[in-house]
Amino acid sequence: MKVKLKYISKYSKIIDSNKTQCLLCSHYCVISNNGYGKCKVRKNIDNQLIAQNYGAITGVAIDPIEKKPLYHYMPGAKVLSFGCFGCNFKCINCQNYSISDSDIFDIEKIIADNNNYSTPDILLDLAIQNKCEGIAYTYSEPTVFWDFCEDIIKLAKINAPELKHIVVTNGFFSNELIKSIIENNFIDAMNIDLKFINNKYHAICDAQLKPILKNIENIYKKSNIQIEITNLLIPTLNDSDDDIKKLCDFIANLSTDIPIHFSKFFPIYKSKYLLPTFESTLLRAREIAEEVGLKYVYIGNTELANVSDTHCPECHELMIKRNGYSTNILGVKESNFIKCNKCNFKLKIK
Ligand code: SF4
Repeated sequence: MKVKLKYISKYSKIIDSNKTQCLLCSHYCVISNNGYGKCKVRKNIDNQLIAQNYGAITGVAIDPIEKKPLYHYMPGAKVLSFGCFGCNFKCINCQNYSISDSDIFDIEKIIADNNNYSTPDILLDLAIQNKCEGIAYTYSEPTVFWDFCEDIIKLAKINAPELKHIVVTNGFFSNELIKSIIENNFIDAMNIDLKFINNKYHAICDAQLKPILKNIENIYKKSNIQIEITNLLIPTLNDSDDDIKKLCDFIANLSTDIPIHFSKFFPIYKSKYLLPTFESTLLRAREIAEEVGLKYVYIGNTELANVSDTHCPECHELMIKRNGYSTNILGVKESNFIKCNKCNFKLKIK
């Protein structure tokens, strides 16, 4: 693989002769010479902000889009999925801690080993050769490897404009990044992990809630990006009726058409002291979401049956049947919607 070690990020601002500020996420790290940002993959070298994880990929796979999860966008499509090292959060329950937590991997060692680097043209070719319908920026947090994502997207817009671009994210974008994503139509669909609706963000993830809510609102109101929300229900941290209702109210106030995916938690990494989510909690969350008025409520990461199907919100006819990651459209598929066989309701699905 080709190597690109010194990528100067355009998402940065010089503060003074010794300090540079990173403008990619809402941490807005001010970084002294030879220092790192919170994500420890962006470094100030000679007062230039270097994206050290540029092209440092952790893995590539071809996934069904349902795995992101995205249920209301290109059902059944296969997408080339990849991620790079690094994350701007420090979640105690991270499932991908070996690639996201910079206390575990060492970016300097990765650079020195020089093995895992890829380039935008290699990944784009992979997507085209494998007849993928899109590229998903995922696995760790795309915000911290955004320079790389953006170069792939720009190249794809010239050489493979039919490809769609999908981000699976914690939503903690900076104002500058989200403005750029929206204004440049970089992204077609996003799954945003809204982890908490309470002040737990700080203690559990070393982040804050407010910018995430603002970003979700802006994306929904100011762009055509298909947006779906995931909420991992963690016992005692965010699974009270009150928390679930507040989170659903926030989504419903934007639109009751936004799909929500409640996901089952398993104790991992630094959260092994907690229990897995009870199935009764997942079902109760679905009930609360439906009471609030959300039309498309799904449950994931569980053996529960029939919890990932799409029903017509008007007459409750089954419109999309999902088994694992296989998708069977039962309504009539037209260009931008699926029509209910029973009542002709048109479900907007691109
Ligand atoms: S991406 Fe976020 S955490 Fe990383 S250096 Fe930039 S502002 Fe800091």
